[in-house]
Amino acid sequence: MKQVIFATGNEGKMKEIREILGRPDMQIFSLKEAGIEADIVEYGTTFEENAVIKAREIQKLLQDKTYVQTLKIDAETETIVLADDSGLEVDALNKEPGIYSSRYAGEDTPYSIKNQMIIDRLSSVPDEKRTARFVCAVAAAFPDGSVKTAEGTIEGRIGFEEKGSGGFGYDPIFYVPEFGCTTAELTMEQKNQCSHRGKALRQIAEYL
Ligand code: IMP
Repeated sequence: MKQVIFATGNEGKMKEIREILGRPDMQIFSLKEAGIEADIVEYGTTFEENAVIKAREIQKLLQDKTYVQTLKIDAETETIVLADDSGLEVDALNKEPGIYSSRYAGEDTPYSIKNQMIIDRLSSVPDEKRTARFVCAVAAAFPDGSVKTAEGTIEGRIGFEEKGSGGFGYDPIFYVPEFGCTTAELTMEQKNQCSHRGKALRQIAEYL
């Protein structure tokens, strides 16, 4: 059995990750499920740098065998640490919020407010210039110190109002022309097929 820790505390992401990466020979833990408490500073300047920082930091913690004994994972099994960093790039806003997507307007500000702020900032921007993309970089840190990375994107446009109740974060304002709806209106299977995270995770899965 392979043991993987995904370095996130975001339940919405964990659901998607399990759906995409889940296979019978792999046990996937969130940080919380593994019993790891870590406050990692994302000081990188790109999605990829931040994903590598997070995956490396957690793998470094696992090198302390005494510490691993205190966790809720099998201490005898080698563990691969995965981490992602993702966000929304809005072209008309100079690719904001970008790597600051979760911190945009404050970490604890509800997405209904963050989404409305983006809609308001684009009030004079016509449909064809409302182009945007979700980007996701994933890093896998292995016990031998090596790291592999992968990146995925999905292109879309910022809508004029929130639509849909699925997904999380900026999904209700992210309109995907091919589907004729927002990513919050897709089923989880549909979203995983086309999403930035789905693409990046399927690439990284080849290394696991
Ligand atoms: P991270 O947890 O530092 O990677 O921050 C990711 C942030 O980007 C999330 O908190 C959301 O604000 C945004 N984001 C990333 N992926 C998605 C998605 O699939 N849907 C909606 N928002 C997303």
